[in-house]
Amino acid sequence: MSLTLSEFERIALPTLSTYATIECLSPAFDEHWRERGHIDQAIELLAQWARLRVFAQFDVDIVRLEGRTPVLVVTVEATNDDDATVVLYGHMDKQPPLGDWSEGLAPYEPVRRGDRLYARGVADDGYSTFAALLALESLEKGEQPHSRCVVLIEASEESGSPDLDAYLDVLSERLGHVELMICLDSGALTYDRLWVTSSLRGLASVDVTVEVLTRGQHSGSASGIVPSSFRILRQLLDRLEDAETGVVLVPELHGEIPEAAHHAAQEIALEFGESLHFGLPVVENLALMGSDVTERILNQTWRPTLSIVGMAGLPPPEIAGNVLRPSTTASLSFRLPPNVNAARAQRALEDLLTRDVPEGALVSVRGHSADGWSSPVVAEWLVTALEQSSQKYFGRGFSYTGEGGTIPFLASLARRYPNVQFVATGVLGPDSNAHGVDEMLDLPTTIAVTNAVSSIVAAFAHRKDAQ
Ligand SMILES: [Zn+2]
Repeated sequence: MSLTLSEFERIALPTLSTYATIECLSPAFDEHWRERGHIDQAIELLAQWARLRVFAQFDVDIVRLEGRTPVLVVTVEATNDDDATVVLYGHMDKQPPLGDWSEGLAPYEPVRRGDRLYARGVADDGYSTFAALLALESLEKGEQPHSRCVVLIEASEESGSPDLDAYLDVLSERLGHVELMICLDSGALTYDRLWVTSSLRGLASVDVTVEVLTRGQHSGSASGIVPSSFRILRQLLDRLEDAETGVVLVPELHGEIPEAAHHAAQEIALEFGESLHFGLPVVENLALMGSDVTERILNQTWRPTLSIVGMAGLPPPEIAGNVLRPSTTASLSFRLPPNVNAARAQRALEDLLTRDVPEGALVSVRGHSADGWSSPVVAEWLVTALEQSSQKYFGRGFSYTGEGGTIPFLASLARRYPNVQFVATGVLGPDSNAHGVDEMLDLPTTIAVTNAVSSIVAAFAHRKDAQ
């Protein structure tokens, strides 16, 4: 049995829309998340909906470790005699609204336009609880045997999953003998097929502060005598990145690009060409980085990049006086190749920023990192299942794509369960605007992904027959 849009509208959409009204920001964006209680409110809502599902045998649990965000764990017992577990992963914490949403849209007031639902967190990653449980429920409805499944919904993903490892420790017995992980928090290049993520980049974030004065001074009296903190910061940044080309200069941040990744990038470039970048709202005449589409795909998925995502110590222009400011802080966000050790990369960055500082300025750094991930070899039964489910529910075969983003969960799990098969997929396609304004969930894609998950779990139950 497969799920239809009208069933989803009846069973899931009302609760998903209520979830959309909750400001359950990830802890990194709301240090008072505990007192505010929005994460609790959202997880209770999802748990309540989960308890209404119909399974032969299941359990819904909100697990809470002291000082950490909670996780929702739904265990659906096997209807066959397999002893392996399938883990289905998603998260319910949200990114902040970011900025002004378009006319008629707002982050916490869900709006449906045609078959699309707009609100913060619906696509990243609120839909995942619904998709995972509905996929399993339709298996039981259709009396298709399935192995033991654990749906794991965490609440710290947008902060880099700092709480997840502690839960994986505590839940390791409950997770049991994990053989397949389905991650419902990934991207799609189009809505016309099932997209399976073959790699993710890692992340190294470093806040660097350059101090030159203990308090600001009239620039008429101090400039020319006291070196500017901004100028020293520029010199430090030049150690990390070529200011002309954007190439990252730190060897520890580069990894070897596998032949298969080159090949996959060429295939995607051949199919989509320049249209791949049409969704980016670039200003007129902007020259894109990279010599061609293939190079841009590799830049985005297998090469390190620097984005400066925040600055402090600088007043906004309207109130900026002629002052030699005491300090400048920049938040450096490096995306890392899938095969680079993120902790080592972060150490290299911090070392370069603090060693032999020009003019003896005071430099302090604070950072964190998360490893990237690249898929292990995909088992034959799984390739067949991906192909068949994509054909059946999207009308064409599946494709692999590398992702430029980071899901720390996958790296964490890959370390814990080295022999596990992974399916990382999701609904974050064109215009889904995860992390941006006007976040959108495409409902037909949600249904198709849900049904594809259903058939992948069904195929898992038969994986041994296929061998
Ligand atoms: Zn996400």
